[in-house]
Amino acid sequence: MQEIGHWINGKLVAGTSGRFADVYNPATGEVQARLALATATELDDAIQKAAVAQKAWANVNPQRRARVMMAFGALINKNMDRLAELVSREHGKTLPDARGDVQRGLEVVEVCMGAPAMLKGEFTDSAGPGIDLYAMRQPLGVVAGITPFNFPAMIPLWKMAPAIASGNAMILKPSERCPSTALLLAELFQEAGLPDGVLQVVNGDKDVVDGILDHPVIQAVGFVGSTPIAQYIYGRAATNGKRAQCFGGAKNHMVIMPDADLDKAADALIGAGFGAAGERCMAISVAVPVGEKTADALIEKLVPRIEKLKIGPYTAGDDVDFGPVITSASLARIGGLIDSGVEQGAKLVVDGRGFKLQGYEKGFFIGPSLFDNVTPDMEIYKQEIFGPVLSQVRAKTYDEALALVMDNEYGNGTAIFTADGDTARDFASRVNVGMVGINFPIPVPLSYFSFGGWKRSAFGDLNQYGPDAFRFYTKTKTVTARWFSGIKEGASLNFKAMD
Ligand code: NAD
Repeated sequence: MQEIGHWINGKLVAGTSGRFADVYNPATGEVQARLALATATELDDAIQKAAVAQKAWANVNPQRRARVMMAFGALINKNMDRLAELVSREHGKTLPDARGDVQRGLEVVEVCMGAPAMLKGEFTDSAGPGIDLYAMRQPLGVVAGITPFNFPAMIPLWKMAPAIASGNAMILKPSERCPSTALLLAELFQEAGLPDGVLQVVNGDKDVVDGILDHPVIQAVGFVGSTPIAQYIYGRAATNGKRAQCFGGAKNHMVIMPDADLDKAADALIGAGFGAAGERCMAISVAVPVGEKTADALIEKLVPRIEKLKIGPYTAGDDVDFGPVITSASLARIGGLIDSGVEQGAKLVVDGRGFKLQGYEKGFFIGPSLFDNVTPDMEIYKQEIFGPVLSQVRAKTYDEALALVMDNEYGNGTAIFTADGDTARDFASRVNVGMVGINFPIPVPLSYFSFGGWKRSAFGDLNQYGPDAFRFYTKTKTVTARWFSGIKEGASLNFKAMD
């Protein structure tokens, strides 16, 4: 059985703890590798080495660091298929979807090639007599990234690229379910010229995470995962005086107005609801048609589209729309939530339970499900299902639809489909959600903007990648400099304006 270890000081190293986590092939249900879970000593060793490497890396000028990012980007491109195959093998998503996972991470690396411009400071000449004022951005030191299973390439890249381009060293702890892509990325980063120790990939579970949160050398923690863990990590990191941004779960609604192009809305719901088996934090899991006629028409358009969806292993190639979910526990939980929807009175229009694929009977497959007449008190509405289940909640008016989105505890993404500019504009302006799509279902901002939700979808400040990432991974130092030529002023005890 393959054993997966860690990436420390530029080398793959085996773990020494004797503790392992099983890494499954979700399509077959078989264990395909054992992942070593690091000990506190291994983690401490990785952090201490990172601290040494960071000091030298921070002194490499930004332009040279950017060149490493350029070489890294080229290597990601060159190894696209290899990376995508690793993503699919451990996650189960289709190969085209896995390529998108790598591609959207690569785009963040591309923006980091322009890091020197992002890291420029500010300067005011003659802020007072003989006085210049300037602010510079300096790296934090050693920072940590803790990432989820659902984007094994993109989210580690969201973390490592801006942190490292800004002159920090990073301890990355990937999901124990999909650890291999991050290890290959680390290898490619080294090949691109990244000095050893600047990126350490330490695999592990809660013990390693807690070790990171309590370690005095770690200056900042960037987390992505479920809301309860995001809140826990934010609290513990903040208590220990660390900078923290922790992105959590979601329940994303799409409002469909009576004037919307319903074919386009239905197509968008299929992609955003069922793509990657619904395992995306920006998946649309709730459709909110306005008016009974819109709701009835939407169901009519959705059902035949859902019935055409093909489910299977990524190895089946283009014949597959989505793959298995990540674990047997997740499969059981999704099935249980569908049961609860039926028990609580929602109308199950398409039932994905009991789906079996010949030759893959032990795989974690579930078919797509569609519920109608869902109400906000039901568990299928309240919980993030993170599976291929779309719920329709009927709203009588636009105001009712907007209120539903606004009352939801999560605020990651949302969308509105309409032909009316005023309604779209009103929605975008008033809704209390971080990322909004107008006739666009998964509004993940491009890499030169920043990504982040509101409400219980994010804890802490500043968003991920784009301009916010450079702010998160640097601290500002402001210098007031005075030179005395031509200045006659003597001592003053007053705290006064510079004039
Ligand atoms: P998860 O919260 O189970 O795990 C995320 C990370 O936290 C992993 O590295 C894991 O090892 C670690 N972890 C798990 N339990 C822990 C504990 N008790 N203490 C300390 N660390 C722990 O999330 P997941 O199942 O891997 O990912 C799916 C979730 O991530 C969904 O809720 C999804 O919405 C969310 N997500 C959010 C975003 C975003 O940007 N907002 C993006 C992708 C995924």
